[in-house]
Amino acid sequence: MKIGCVKEIKNREYRVGLIPDNAKSYVNAGHEVWIEKGAGLGSGFTDAEYEKAGAKLVDTAKEVWDGVDMMVKVKEPLPEEYGYFRKDLVLFTYLHLAADKPLTDAMLASGMKGFAYETLIERDGSIPLLAPMSQIAGRLSIQEGAKYLEKTFGGSGVLLSGVPGTPKANIVIIGGGSVGTNACKIAVGMGANVTILDISLPRLAYLDDIFGARIQTLVSTDTNIENAVKEADLVIGSVLIPGKAAPKLMKKAYLKEMKPGSVIVDVAVDQGGCCETTKVTYHDDPIYEVDGIIHYCVGNMPGAVPRTSTIALTNATLRYGLAIAEHGLEEACRKNPVMISGVNTYDGKLTCKNVADSFRMEY
Ligand code: NAD
Repeated sequence: MKIGCVKEIKNREYRVGLIPDNAKSYVNAGHEVWIEKGAGLGSGFTDAEYEKAGAKLVDTAKEVWDGVDMMVKVKEPLPEEYGYFRKDLVLFTYLHLAADKPLTDAMLASGMKGFAYETLIERDGSIPLLAPMSQIAGRLSIQEGAKYLEKTFGGSGVLLSGVPGTPKANIVIIGGGSVGTNACKIAVGMGANVTILDISLPRLAYLDDIFGARIQTLVSTDTNIENAVKEADLVIGSVLIPGKAAPKLMKKAYLKEMKPGSVIVDVAVDQGGCCETTKVTYHDDPIYEVDGIIHYCVGNMPGAVPRTSTIALTNATLRYGLAIAEHGLEEACRKNPVMISGVNTYDGKLTCKNVADSFRMEY
């Protein structure tokens, strides 16, 4: 099969769908890899590295789109790319179709085979192609929180670990799933006092098992949240109720009870955020202040570290991409039926129930 990868054209998207190491894996498996020149530069991968891996460098995105059997990307195609769609093309990328009717219509009209990273669900219920981004956002949330606690950025001037003879910072993590657990890992590693709240008792038991006496677990109730955030230097919002807007667990009234210059990093901002005072921010202007509390609410946190994000994403996508390349999409799905959950469009039809439901379209 011919596998393609183009430079992402979405504003400030520096990730890339294939790294040179992946190109080598496809080439070693007997496939051809076409890379648009410069596609990997945002993530620090040079054309020479792709060439050394056996990929063919191509001058324009159009040549790649027109020449390959499967396009491996990161972000959903933008309108400028719709003209490249065709029936026999497999598109392997994040799609988020439920939020994008024009893209859905363009893909259906072309009859192309659209595989969405975010809808692939493994047998154990995990979402393997989303998990790396939650891991990154969780770990980054503590790093960003630590930065904005610095006085220069308007923070209270607290060092997370403290030093001998001074208090450590108090970090409160609301939601102990993938993001929360990864935030917890870094927070514990930095030597802060960590309290983590979740509504799931089995999840709290798991966190208690892995972190032991180094953290305080609490069931997520209004009272526990209010009491915990009063003492917090840094609050991480990491709740998720799948398919729903995040519950507004952090009330505006709590901010006045918090220590001035404390920081909230609302990672759940992409689901509307779990603070009443959350509004989406971007990497070029990531923070704002409400009632003396710094808010960081960037919807695309992994974009801050494209090198790590690209490697983490492609580590996860490679085995599914190789299966499609080896067998074709249809046979790959027959051999591993889990992969059917990733297929969103096929032969002019929507094949993902959640996407179809959100448009009230036939599935
Ligand atoms: P997850 O499903 O692994 O974890 C969510 C956790 O929230 C679960 O443990 C669940 O029990 C808990 N929860 C649900 N309701 C709660 C409540 N009322 N109180 C406390 N806990 C509650 O999800 P995740 O992968 O950790 O993702 C968390 C959020 O982060 C999602 O909204 C996700 O989209 C978002 N996210 C954002 C970015 C970004 O760049 N901003 C990146 C990755 C993920």
